[in-house]
Amino acid sequence: MKPAPFGFAKAKSVEHAIALLGEHADARILAGGQSLIATLNMRLSAPKLLVDINALDELKRIAVAGDWLEIGALVRHAEAERSPEIARHAPLIARALPHIAHPAIRNRGTIGGSIAYADPAAELPACLLALGGEITIASKAGRRTIKAEDFFKGLFETALAPGDILTGVRVPVAGADGRYGFAELARRHGDYALVGLAAAARADGKALRDVRLAFFGVGATPIRARMAEAAVGLGTDPVVALARDLDPEGDVQASAAAKKHLAGVLLRRVAAQLREARP
Ligand SMILES: Cc1cc2nc3c(=O)[nH]c(=O)nc-3n(C[C@H](O)[C@H](O)[C@H](O)COP(=O)(O)OP(=O)(O)OC[C@H]3O[C@@H](n4cnc5c(N)ncnc54)[C@H](O)[C@@H]3O)c2cc1C
Repeated sequence: MKPAPFGFAKAKSVEHAIALLGEHADARILAGGQSLIATLNMRLSAPKLLVDINALDELKRIAVAGDWLEIGALVRHAEAERSPEIARHAPLIARALPHIAHPAIRNRGTIGGSIAYADPAAELPACLLALGGEITIASKAGRRTIKAEDFFKGLFETALAPGDILTGVRVPVAGADGRYGFAELARRHGDYALVGLAAAARADGKALRDVRLAFFGVGATPIRARMAEAAVGLGTDPVVALARDLDPEGDVQASAAAKKHLAGVLLRRVAAQLREARP
């Protein structure tokens, strides 16, 4: 199928992009195009105007600012994968990136596009939630920052409003006591996960504190498993506690029972990773 006709404009700055979005009630941002173009071609969406933000160099930075690592919205997955700053300061994201799709898609797909699209089976939204990350947004009203836990609202639904541009994300810089775990199960490497888990904690001697477990592929948004978090911290069996955290529905990939079982399998793997010393 071919997309419905649409207009096209190339933004020269964030302010220009905001102005273009304001001119049309049904305008959409084009970043890497890896999800958007497919939805246009399948006529799942038919915006009147695409605002291409690919020329905005100000959204391509990766930098440390105080206690935060900032990653611009237009950083491609493949660039993030090769970034020494992300490897050093956000090892959880570095671990998750190779699981996103295939190299050709990672060459074009962007960090901001992945967070804005908010696929419930995507890796990066769960990583942001596990890390206590934040999302930065620009609009006609100015700039604002939203915590990841307040950003993902429902199925493909976020706190972004019409006219908003996601300018970047930021996560706390990993400390020496930071411990991270990541695992997912997919039918083939690079497919969207059936179930996945991103996790962060702090080592306190032999114990773990501030455990944050963010599952994906088990609901409309990434989901914190708070009972299991407490169990990991206390050293009790987290899989027993997990039964009270997750109530996944089945989908085309797996039944509800299979997802529940797989979530438990991943939890055991990731809990073991959290206990490992960092290299
Ligand atoms: C075959 C295939 C397999 C894939 N597998 C995975 C996978 O396993 N895991 C995974 O996470 N992803 C996967 N993806 C998706 C991929 O990661 C996309 O790149 C990503 O979801 C969207 O990023 P993009 O830059 O291409 O965004 P686009 O496709 O350009 O945009 C996606 C949506 O986000 C909006 N948007 C984009 N950038 C911004 C911004 N800065 N501010 C506001 N709104 C914005 C757009 O308007 C659009 O609605 C897969 C894609 C394909 C085609």
